[in-house]
Amino acid sequence: GVRGITSIPTLSQLYRTGTVLASKKKDLPTPNAELNEKICTIRYDITKLEVDAIVNAANRRLLGGGGVDGAIHLAAGPKLLEECRTLKGCNTGSAKVTDAYDLPCKKVIHAVGPVYDDDDETSEPLLRGCYRTSLQLAVENDCKSIAFSAISTGIYGYPSKEASIAALSEVKKFLEQPDGQKIDKVVFVNFMGKDVAAYNESMPEIFPPT
Ligand code: ADP
Repeated sequence: GVRGITSIPTLSQLYRTGTVLASKKKDLPTPNAELNEKICTIRYDITKLEVDAIVNAANRRLLGGGGVDGAIHLAAGPKLLEECRTLKGCNTGSAKVTDAYDLPCKKVIHAVGPVYDDDDETSEPLLRGCYRTSLQLAVENDCKSIAFSAISTGIYGYPSKEASIAALSEVKKFLEQPDGQKIDKVVFVNFMGKDVAAYNESMPEIFPPT
C-alpha cells in the first residue's frame, strides 16, 4: 500500500535503533538534533509515498524514460506526459515541477541529473544543482515534505557513495539557510542495495548523531 510521511523512520530513530551507526571518522560537523529529525530515509518505491513532492530522476527532454522516470509516469497516468510536453525540456542540473495526477503525492519535481563522467568536474555541481533547485521549487510550491530518488545513480552511472555525499551536503546547506525553515521533511528514497549502503555510510558523516 501507500506509505505516509509519519511511518518513515527519521535519522534520529535510525541512530536509536542502530540501523545507522555513528561514523568513526574525525573532523565531523557539529551534530544538529533538529536536522536529524527532518531527515528520513527509506528503501521503497517512490511512487507509493504520500509526501508533498517526489523528485524524479528525469532526462533533459522530460518526456519519460526508464528507471524511476518510467515508474513515475506509469503510476501517474498519461496526463503527466501531457503536462511534461508543455515544459519544453529542462537543463541538466536543474528541475521543473508538475502536478502528480494519479500518484499519492501532490507534486512531481523533475530533476535532470548529469551523466557521470569521471574526467569532468562539472558532474558534482550539476548533481548538487538538482537537489538545490528541487528544494527551492518545493518551497515555492508550498511543499513541506519532499522525497528524493537517488538521482543519477542508475542509468546515468554516478557512483553511489559520491552521489550520497553530494546529495546530503547540498540538502544540509539548504536546510541551514532561511528558506530551509519552510521544509519539514526530506526523505532519501533508495531502491538498490548499493544506495542503501552508501547512505548508511554517508549520513553519519554529514548529519552526525547527537
Ligand atoms: P538516472 O538516469 O538519473 O541514473 P535511474 O532511474 O536509472 O535514473 O536511477 C535513479 C535511481 O532511482 C536509482 O538509484 C534507481 O535504483 C532508483 N529507482 C528506480 N526505480 C525506482 C522506484 N520505483 N522508486 C525509487 N527509486 C527508484
